[in-house]
Amino acid sequence: MVRTIELNKRQEQILQIVKDNGPITGEHIADQLNLTRATLRPDLAILTMAGFLDARPRVGYFYTGKSGTQLLTENLQKIFVREYQSIPVVVNENVSVYDAIVSMFLEDVGTLFVVDQNSLLVGVLSRKDLLRASIGKQELASLPVNIIMTRMPNITICERDDLLIEVAKKLIDKQIDALPVVKKTERGFEVIGRVTKTNIAKAFVALGEDM
Ligand code: ADP
Repeated sequence: MVRTIELNKRQEQILQIVKDNGPITGEHIADQLNLTRATLRPDLAILTMAGFLDARPRVGYFYTGKSGTQLLTENLQKIFVREYQSIPVVVNENVSVYDAIVSMFLEDVGTLFVVDQNSLLVGVLSRKDLLRASIGKQELASLPVNIIMTRMPNITICERDDLLIEVAKKLIDKQIDALPVVKKTERGFEVIGRVTKTNIAKAFVALGEDM
C-alpha cells in the first residue's frame, strides 16, 4: 500500500477538518463541507487507504498524524525479497565461457550464478566478465567459467526474508546489477532466486500505484 499520493483540494479540506475535530463521523465531515456523505465516500476511502486517516466503527475518523513520507518509509520496511525475486539462472563451474554466453542470451538475463557439482554457489558472471574474456585471445569454448568468474567468498548474497530496500542498498554500494537469493545449508549456499535492478524497479512502481 502506498501513501505518497497527491491530495486534491477536497481531500486536503477533509484532512484539516479531521485534524481539528477528530474523531468525527463521515456525516459531520460532510455537513461541514455542505456535501452529502455519498459524495465524500471516495475521498474518505482514499485518505483511509493511504493511511492519513483511520476509521473506527461508531467513533469516526481520526487523523493518524503520519506524513506521506513517514508512511512510505513504513511501507518500504514491509517489502521483502521473497515478494519480488525472480528465478535464478545458474551454470556449472565447468561450463565454457562460450556456453555461458549462449545461456545468457537464451535465458535473457544479465547475470549468471555459478554452482559446483553439489549445486552450491561458487561464483557470479556478469555481462562484462564475459565480454572481457571474449576480448582476449583465449579459446572461449575451452575456457571454463571458473577461471574468469567473481568467486566466493566475495559474492554479495541475500535471503528471501531480507528487506528489498536492503538489497537495493547493496546493489548500489557494490555497484552490481544482481544478487543471488540463497538458502544457507551446512554445505554452503543453495541458489534459490535472483534480485536484479529490474525487480527493484518493479517494487518501486508497485509502491507508487498500489493505493
Ligand atoms: P556488468 O559487469 O555487466 O556491468 P555488474 O555490475 O553486475 O555487471 O558486475 C560487475 C562486477 O561485479 C563483475 O565482475 C561481476 O562478476 C561482479 N558481480 C556481479 N554480481 C555480484 C555479486 N552479487 N557479488 C559479487 N560480485 C558480483
